[in-house]
Amino acid sequence: MTEQIHKTIIIGSGPAGYTAAIYAARADMKPLLLTGMEPGGQLTTTTDVENFPGYPDGIKGPEMMTDLQKQAERFGTEIVFDLVNEVIFSEEEKGIHTIKTSNGKEFKTYSVIISTGASAKYLGLEDEKKYAGSGVSACATCDGFFYKGKDVAVVGGGDTAAEEATYLSHLCNKVYLLVRRDEFRASKAMEARVMKTQNIEVLFHHELEGLSGENVVEKAHVFNNQTGEKQELKVDGVFIAIGHKPNTDLFQGKLDMDETGYLITQPKSTRTKLPGVFAAGDVQDKIYRQAITAAGSGCMAALDAEKYLMQIFD
Ligand code: NDP
Repeated sequence: MTEQIHKTIIIGSGPAGYTAAIYAARADMKPLLLTGMEPGGQLTTTTDVENFPGYPDGIKGPEMMTDLQKQAERFGTEIVFDLVNEVIFSEEEKGIHTIKTSNGKEFKTYSVIISTGASAKYLGLEDEKKYAGSGVSACATCDGFFYKGKDVAVVGGGDTAAEEATYLSHLCNKVYLLVRRDEFRASKAMEARVMKTQNIEVLFHHELEGLSGENVVEKAHVFNNQTGEKQELKVDGVFIAIGHKPNTDLFQGKLDMDETGYLITQPKSTRTKLPGVFAAGDVQDKIYRQAITAAGSGCMAALDAEKYLMQIFD
């Protein structure tokens, strides 16, 4: 039996992966999509998604991902619930790439769309899991609206934390920003914006040690890591903003990455440095990180892959 060589394989099942699948399937590229460990990606861990255009009443994250999956399947995407554990990329034009999975399967393909996403980092506290979706979030743009007029805390001192605190300051009554050192890691401009915002109170040398409340977060328990002094902040929400980790371990040494591990794509395209290998969504975007931008770049990747296939089969 001759070995099947797919036209395109999509790795990852967030908005980028499924959108790439919809476009690729409709272009008759017969995509195969490997879901990874967390089918549906980061959106399956959020509650309501209210900022994805086209849903006037909002939609639950997991529901939206099920819809995207159905839409991709409707046009013939083959979905395989498996985790990729090795990729062997060809460096040749018209080369064949090999993808191996943890179930021992091996797939061959002319093009690959990488949409493995990024994962928000958490502090590792039990209470983060206990109150996930009930007062703990890692995305102010996604969930800030639910805390309108309320008091919240943000943990972190980088650009993400500064940006999230600033965003929340427009919606919330008060924002505590817990920075573990006596200085920010964020850029000076972002720091200055935070410092001059009236309703942000920066607590340097402060760390979060726990949360409490009946069913939802009502208090954040913090301590000063210099004096040991403990304090309870009456807040309804806590935003963990200590960074994201792009899911790119598989591609170490194979594709170009920036210093934080995000895949580098060529400007205004989803092309990586290798022919037939494309990247879309959060795995290559540390700035916007939204479902809609991920979906947009998934579409771009499918179009780029289609164009590539046309060139090599011409
Ligand atoms: P960073 O790694 O830059 O910052 C992480 C922050 O979280 C640091 O202040 C760090 O503290 C703190 N932190 C880490 N672990 C803990 C912990 N366990 N407890 C308490 N605090 C902790 O991540 P960002 O997500 O902020 O930024 C990532 C990259 O994305 C950066 O290059 C940034 O510039 C970029 N970015 C750019 C934006 C823009 O241009 N608009 C917006 C957002 C991000 P410490 O400093 O002590 O290590």
